[in-house]
Amino acid sequence: MNLVLMGLPGAGKGTQAEKIVEEYKIPHISTGDMFRAAMSDGTELGLKAKSFMDKGELVPDEVTIGIVRERLAKQDCEKGFLLDGFPRTVAQAEALENILAEIEKKIDYVINIDVDQSVLMERLTGRRICKKCGSTYHLVFNPPSEEGICDRCGGELYQRPDDNKETVKNRLDVNIKQTKPLLDFYESKGYLKNINGQQAIEQVFLDIDSLLKGLV
Ligand code: AMP
Repeated sequence: MNLVLMGLPGAGKGTQAEKIVEEYKIPHISTGDMFRAAMSDGTELGLKAKSFMDKGELVPDEVTIGIVRERLAKQDCEKGFLLDGFPRTVAQAEALENILAEIEKKIDYVINIDVDQSVLMERLTGRRICKKCGSTYHLVFNPPSEEGICDRCGGELYQRPDDNKETVKNRLDVNIKQTKPLLDFYESKGYLKNINGQQAIEQVFLDIDSLLKGLV
């Protein structure tokens, strides 16, 4: 089960990714999470990524493609994987095709969670994330039972620095421009599956789940 999860920032990629990997026991590979981990560990990769992430810009392809190539070669990807936040450009998508061909794999589905752009600003600025386990919440649409505390692990919730209004707007603009050619690329390959992301979280997952059941 080799999957790519797509959608503009705030479309619910993180939330649905958690559900998919829990149900199907495949590794969740999020380039954003990998960059954030590298930043908090203070590695060279983290330092490289920080200047771009702070501005809401994409980290250069050669850096991003390199970390994905290494990650997909790991043993736990044998039975499948869920890519989240990668690819973001057609160049990355083409690189991914090559990486997968080298290890004799191919993508099964590119799941695109579709949400109107007008809804995304509100969703993004209300997002809160657990410091400890990375679970995502929303102040209005998906609040934790206890304010500021993760339901799953009891960790402290925080607002990502790149979820402020100005950075969010820039991040959306960058993504909207980049996404169209990427969706066209995957449509032409026949991988693309659009899922309506403007439904309850559980319903979005049911739609994804019924698609994935066909693969097992
Ligand atoms: P995300 O958590 O996916 O929203 O990613 C947060 C930030 O990490 C982005 O705004 C980019 O700066 C960087 N990033 C994550 N994935 C990629 C990617 N595939 N290509 C380039 N930059 C990325």
